[in-house]
Order: sequence, then structure tokens, then C-alpha cells
Amino acid sequence: MPTKMNAFVMLGIKKVGFLEKPIPQDPGPNGAIIKTRCALVCTSDTHTVEGAIGERHGITLGHEAVGVVYKLGSEVKGYKEGDRVAVNAITPCYRCENCLRGCSSQCHQMLGGWKFANIKDGVFAEYFHVNDAEANLAPIPATVKDSSAVYCCDMISTGFSAAENAAVPIGGSVAIFGEGPVGLMATAGAKLLGAGLIIGIETIPKRQELARHFGADIVIDYRKEDPVEAIHRLTDGFGVDGAIEALGAQETFSACIKATRPGGVISNVGYHGKGDFISIPRLDWGVGMSDQTIRTSLCPGGKERMKRLLRLIDTGRVDPTPMTTHTFAFQELGHAFDLMKTKYEGIIKPLITFS
Ligand SMILES: [Zn+2]
Ligand SMILES: [Zn+2]
Repeated sequence: MPTKMNAFVMLGIKKVGFLEKPIPQDPGPNGAIIKTRCALVCTSDTHTVEGAIGERHGITLGHEAVGVVYKLGSEVKGYKEGDRVAVNAITPCYRCENCLRGCSSQCHQMLGGWKFANIKDGVFAEYFHVNDAEANLAPIPATVKDSSAVYCCDMISTGFSAAENAAVPIGGSVAIFGEGPVGLMATAGAKLLGAGLIIGIETIPKRQELARHFGADIVIDYRKEDPVEAIHRLTDGFGVDGAIEALGAQETFSACIKATRPGGVISNVGYHGKGDFISIPRLDWGVGMSDQTIRTSLCPGGKERMKRLLRLIDTGRVDPTPMTTHTFAFQELGHAFDLMKTKYEGIIKPLITFS
């Protein structure tokens, strides 16, 4: 039996590399150990390495992966070793006060559901540990491939939560600022939820093309025209019912406020990685009385949601795989990581496969 494995870790701020670690052997009574089959690199992994959450010396990176159950805790029911499972990026305990209030991504404390590559080793390793496995392992339907299922771990859950939070009425209008992978899945989610007009804001040609593929009726290139003006023109001067911030920048956040009609919703899923404050354009916010709502979310997790997301793939409602622009073996993760950081070669999502 092998006892060591390779893990791709944060060696320090702006430093990554492989490290040999022991294969986790003890799942604990409520946990599980998963043998990784495939993973996706996320822009937020690169934020972590840039220092967005401080030093995480030696922590295994990654939070989007599927695999097979290698070991199960004695108290975990409903699974067996060898089962193929998807694990959401967010793994709440489902017992604490915040979880019981329905804010499971804020498990115990703000953002506390985010454990992988934050407070425990992540998934860029040949094996990884999952806490509270009974609630956090989602069985993958036999007809759904690993390379599709892995998108439920973050991109689909986060993107769809952005669309759900935007609360666009059937036939209503929505704008998605930033058609990266989360924005693209917000676009697909808005279409599934019945939006009547979907406007994407994006300048990169490959992303514009995918935005149309996933449901955008119109894509505005912000380098060519002012998106807020264009949105007002396209909505008879009212603004959209919902605006989705899927980038994490002051400029797009402000544009969301300006582009949303009174009474509409600004749905933020962008990771605001810089600065001490995010400011709100005062007049466009009706000097604080516009009946606009700002909502936020962090990748809702848990088996029940994951089962619903996997069902959408199983029934063909959504196919996330056009976002896989690159595929690398685990040993090549360093290269994938560099590409994700620089966004070279038109990269959207690099899929990492494990032998
Ligand atoms: Zn992610
Ligand atoms: Zn909790």
C-alpha cells in the first residue's frame, strides 16, 4: 500500500509547487477520504496564492474535484468505498447556528463553509479529506462523466446562485458583468430560470462566443460602448431587473448599481480581492432609497443542491464542458496554474486529470 502522495501546494505568497505528503488515512467518524479523479483550477486559487487571504504555508491548493470514496468514517451512512462522488468547494458542517439559519456557506463564521485550501488541505492531491461527509458527498449519476460533474463543485453552483439571487421574473431582463466561467454559468442559470433578455458584458472574443452559447441574447463589449448606457437603451430606459457582478471589481460593481432598475437586484458573486472598501454610486442608488437589493453568495454546497445540479447535466439541461479549454495531467498542474494566473492562450478552465 502506498503511504505517500503528491500534493500541489502554496509554498508562500506567490509561490507554488509539489510537496510529498502522507496519504490521509483517518477519515474521523464523520469524514471521508476521496481518491481524486479530476479537478479544475479556479481563479480564486490564484487569488489565494497572491496573498488575498494571507499566508497559507504548505496548504494543498484546489477546491473543485470529483473522485471515488477511498475511506469512510464509521458514522457516515449511505455510501460505500469505490462510490464516485462530487464534493462542493464549500463543505459546511450543517449543525452550527449559521448552518441551521440556512446560511451554510457562512458555517460557524463568515465564509466559514470555505474550508478547502483555506483552513484545511484542498483537493490538488491524489487523495483528500472531506469533513461531514454524509452531507457533503454527492453521488454522481452513472451517465454523467467526471469531467462534467466537476463543474458542479463551484462554477455551476456559484453561477447558478448568482442567477437565483438576481430573482429575475420570468421574461425579465438580466445583465451579467464578466463572462468568465462563473459569469457563463450565471448566464446559463438565468436562461434556465426563464429570463427574457440576457445581456452579457465581456470583451474577450472566446468568452463572448461562449456567453452567446450559454444563453446571452446580446453581448456588449465594454471597450466599444458604455455598458450602462447600452443596458438602459435595451430596456426602454428602465435598467435591468437583475444585474450580476461576476468579476469582483469596483467598476463593475458600480455599473451593476447603475444598470439595475429601481426595485431590482444586484447579485454579487465576484471575489473583491483588493482594497478596504467597495463604494456605491450615491445618485444611482436613489440616495439610499431606490428599493434596490444587493445580495451576495458563496458557492452553496451540500449533497442536496449538488444532486440537483448533477441532474441538470444528466438530463441535458446544461453541458458545462465547452468551458474546458485545456486539459493537463496532475504532474503538469504548475503550468495550468500559470496559465490561469495570466489568462494566456484564451484559457477559461483547465481540467486536471489524475491517473
Ligand atoms: Zn473555484
Ligand atoms: Zn456549520
